[in-house]
Amino acid sequence: MILIGLTGGIGSGKSTVSGLLAEYGAVIIDADAITRELQAPGAPLLVTLADRFGDSIVDSSGALDRAALAAIAFSDPEALKDLNKIVHPAVAAEMDRRMNEVRNTDKVVVLDIPLLAENPRKGLCGVVVVDVPVEIAVERLVQLRGMPKSDAQARIAKQASRDDRLKIADQVIDNSGDLDSLKQQVKTVWEWAKQLPPATDDAGERANKD
Ligand code: ADP
Repeated sequence: MILIGLTGGIGSGKSTVSGLLAEYGAVIIDADAITRELQAPGAPLLVTLADRFGDSIVDSSGALDRAALAAIAFSDPEALKDLNKIVHPAVAAEMDRRMNEVRNTDKVVVLDIPLLAENPRKGLCGVVVVDVPVEIAVERLVQLRGMPKSDAQARIAKQASRDDRLKIADQVIDNSGDLDSLKQQVKTVWEWAKQLPPATDDAGERANKD
């Protein structure tokens, strides 16, 4: 496989880029989507979370009540530590499982990780960063995703800075323009990715294990 890291701040357009790469034939391993799947109603991870944090984190339909869990985790450093200790290894194991399924193919595999700058991976063949000015990210999150402006700003403030992400980039997609400009750049990135040398056997492991 050719293993690519894809990252970008919230509202940068990272999901749009991974969707376009999937259309070209990339295998997308999406950390956020896996986290949601593992926490689906009845999933073992959700049961473990309810054991630790109480049934108030599960709503009447059996789904994770993210706001209730966040309220507990962000008011108590020990709770946050426990939450990370429960969720991170489970998500990492599932990402590894999916990567191993395609490790010996010639596919372009995209690890779609919002916090890649904060949690680096070994052996990536290349890193793609989707970059926009913070004001544009906030505007898109408010207008297109209906997020309150203060929420959007607070979430962005908690993530790595643009500079920190740009430091790890081999390819930068500037998503301050329109969707056509984005598509053109994704095409260029796809052509670049396809010709990279394949990944080594330990590629994709977390560089700083928790
Ligand atoms: P992320 O996954 O980085 O949080 P998304 O891909 O969901 O970001 O993009 C945020 C919002 O902005 C979505 O509604 C998306 O459709 C829209 N969007 C992304 N790129 C552009 C663009 N170049 N022009 C206009 N809207 C865009």
